[in-house]
Amino acid sequence: MTKRASLIIKHFEKLGIYLNEEEEKKLKDTCLVNVGEYTCWVVNFFNNNPKFCVNKNWFQADSRQKPSINPRALDGPSNFEIYLIPFEEKLYFLHYIELREYAFKLEKNRDDWFNETWWTAEINSETDEFKWFGNEKYFPLKLFSLENLRKLPDVDDKELTEDKKYSSSTVVRRIRDTKVSKEIKVMYNYTCQICQESLKLDDVNYYAEAHHLKPLGGEHEGPDVKENIICVCPNHHVLLDNFALPLDLEKMDVHPDHNLSLEFINYNNKKVQETKRVKSDR
Ligand SMILES: [Zn+2]
Repeated sequence: MTKRASLIIKHFEKLGIYLNEEEEKKLKDTCLVNVGEYTCWVVNFFNNNPKFCVNKNWFQADSRQKPSINPRALDGPSNFEIYLIPFEEKLYFLHYIELREYAFKLEKNRDDWFNETWWTAEINSETDEFKWFGNEKYFPLKLFSLENLRKLPDVDDKELTEDKKYSSSTVVRRIRDTKVSKEIKVMYNYTCQICQESLKLDDVNYYAEAHHLKPLGGEHEGPDVKENIICVCPNHHVLLDNFALPLDLEKMDVHPDHNLSLEFINYNNKKVQETKRVKSDR
C-alpha cells in the first residue's frame, strides 16, 4: 500500500503537485488523496490483476452513487470520484462517471460481472486504453495532469438539469453537491450557519450540507449561486427544505466574503408564511 502511495507522490512531483504532511499520510494510510475538488483513489495496478471498484448500484436506473472502497479497511468515509492508475511509467486517471459508462458497455457475462464489486481490467500502455478482463472492447485512459482534470465534464451541472424534472411537490434531497455548494461548505468550515454545529466524522473530516434558499428545481427555479446558498447541519436542512424555519440574517453566522442575498432569505420567509397558512387552512 505504501509503495503505491510513494509512486503517486513521485508522479505528482513530476507534475508540480506537492502534498503536505497530512495529505501524504492520508494517501499512505488509505490510498485516498484530494486533488482540487476531487477525491482520488489509487487503483492497485502493481500486479497483473488490476482491479477497478465498481458500484453495483450504478446499474439501477437513476442511481448517482459514487464508488466506495470497503470501509472496514479504511478510516472514515471512502467515497471517491477519480481513479488514479499508476501503470509502468505512466499515471492515468478515470472519472467514475466515465467508468460507469464503460461498465455498461461490457460485452460478455454481464450478469456475472454485475454481481462483483471489483472488476479486473487489462491495460495497454502503448495505446493508453483498457478493456475488461475477458472482453474485447477497449476504452480510453487519460494521462493524469491538472489540465486534463480541468477538462472533465461537469457532472454536477448535468445532474442539476435532470433534477429539475422532479415534481415540485417532492422535496428533492441533493446528496451530490454542486461546485458552488462545495465552496460554501469550505468557506464555513462545515459549520452550520444557524446553530454553529459541525458534525465530526473523524479526525480530519467534518460533515455539513448546502441549502439553496430558493430551491433549484420545480416551481422555484432558484439559481445555483453563492448568494442563494447557505451551509447548514442536517437537522436545519430538513426544516429549511420543508419551509419550516424562518431566517433572520442578524442571528445567522455570515462570512464577510459571502454576500448572501436578502432576496433569497425573504423568499424562504415568504414560503414559510405560505406553508403555515396552508396548514392552518386544513
Ligand atoms: Zn444547524
